[in-house]
Amino acid sequence: MKETSEHTNSYYAASKNWQTDYPKLEGDHHCDVAIVGGGFTGVSAALRLIEHGYKVAVVEANRISWGASGRNGGQLIDGFVMDLDKFEKKVGKIGAEIAYQMGIESRDVVLERIKKHSIDCDLKFGFLDVAMNQGDIDDFHEWLEEKQENNYPHKMEFIAQENLKQHVGSDKYIAGVVNYGNGHLHPLNLCIGEARAIVDQGGAIFEQSQVKKIKHGENPKLITENGVVHAKKVILAGNAYLRKTEPKLAGAVIPAGSYIIATEPLSESLANELLPSDMAVCDQRVGLDYYRLSADRRMLFGGLCNYSGRNPKSIKGVLQPKMLNVFPQLVGKRIDYEWGGYIGISINRIPQMGRIQNNTYYVQGYSGHGLCPTHIAGNVIADAIVGDTERFDVFEKVKHIRLPGGLWFANPALALGMMWFRLKELLA
Ligand SMILES: Cc1cc2nc3c(=O)[nH]c(=O)nc-3n(C[C@H](O)[C@H](O)[C@H](O)COP(=O)(O)OP(=O)(O)OC[C@H]3O[C@@H](n4cnc5c(N)ncnc54)[C@H](O)[C@@H]3O)c2cc1C
Repeated sequence: MKETSEHTNSYYAASKNWQTDYPKLEGDHHCDVAIVGGGFTGVSAALRLIEHGYKVAVVEANRISWGASGRNGGQLIDGFVMDLDKFEKKVGKIGAEIAYQMGIESRDVVLERIKKHSIDCDLKFGFLDVAMNQGDIDDFHEWLEEKQENNYPHKMEFIAQENLKQHVGSDKYIAGVVNYGNGHLHPLNLCIGEARAIVDQGGAIFEQSQVKKIKHGENPKLITENGVVHAKKVILAGNAYLRKTEPKLAGAVIPAGSYIIATEPLSESLANELLPSDMAVCDQRVGLDYYRLSADRRMLFGGLCNYSGRNPKSIKGVLQPKMLNVFPQLVGKRIDYEWGGYIGISINRIPQMGRIQNNTYYVQGYSGHGLCPTHIAGNVIADAIVGDTERFDVFEKVKHIRLPGGLWFANPALALGMMWFRLKELLA
């Protein structure tokens, strides 16, 4: 996979609504809040700050949504990946309740943005979790009970094996749970639509302007090759791609590769046979399969297959057999696109929110699905900057766990850890 500073060669880049072309940062620029990174986190924070009347500038090393935000599976899943019971042990009952509500709100923030800014991003409702063994089914029942006890606002339904073919034309699964509130969308078109709303409302975006250095102090500065942004506050939203930009965060988040292939467009009858209700689907394994149809009926099939920090030699070579294992009906179908990106993993799976020197805020490490969590996290950081720190404080309390060795030794250790989980799963 060859990377340039343009959007990676993917189905999304090939079907984006327009090419972003914001200026490079040249000379001096002044604003209230400067944001490093133009993915969902940075863009969401910028939009919320604009609502609060702040002057913002987003500084992106490549193109808006160049990172995970423009490459992901487009699966719209509310809530955080972390285990809420473990989180409660760290932050108490009220803190856990706040995080739970944030999780529910996370999906609503996305929907409100799509509506408010009239963003065309192929939004579809319906999300199916599938079971491959009895343990998954037991978890589903526990999960549904828990949702009911907590007055979860969206309809969810257990799907027994005999009814599963109404949703997924594969023999691999023995049950499922549908969530009618979640769904799927075109993530790159969502993010570039949100970015356009920033500029329409007076915010600034600089593309192909990598922040090389951050000068902390009362008036922090972001320094790029040809310019400087002077701000009162800074938000670091580079997540897995931030790497060494801020030495205090290096090694706190581990970049884990996830990859997707897109077939040629399928006939209407084949698409209907594979995914008749047009929902997004994912299984329950650590190295899970996730897939859905695109608006032009391609199968977008993804898998989390790499914790070593190295991309596979052939993404298609890894993912096509997995896809054919689920859908043998796709034998002979052309693979038009293959791509991947990095997810920011935190060791305890809790998103990391915090502050450096009081006026530089950061959030990273969503540890799996992040489309919805980035949106609420952006809002929460923006609210904290404005003075409402209630939700930010809950997450800031949690200590980050770092793997010994920092950024460059972290991945082999994580790969070993993940192998252990995978082994346990195979032996179960
Ligand atoms: C292949 C794949 C599939 C996924 N599937 C799903 C899914 O289906 N559903 C879901 O909910 N989540 C999914 N995720 C996770 C989700 O995409 C991420 O959690 C989310 O997009 C993170 O957004 P972000 O804005 O924090 O980071 P990113 O989108 O990675 O953005 C960070 C940006 O910061 C920029 N940057 C970094 N350093 C600098 C610097 N020094 N100067 C300037 N700019 C800088 C980068 O160029 C990048 O554009 C997937 C991720 C991947 C990779």
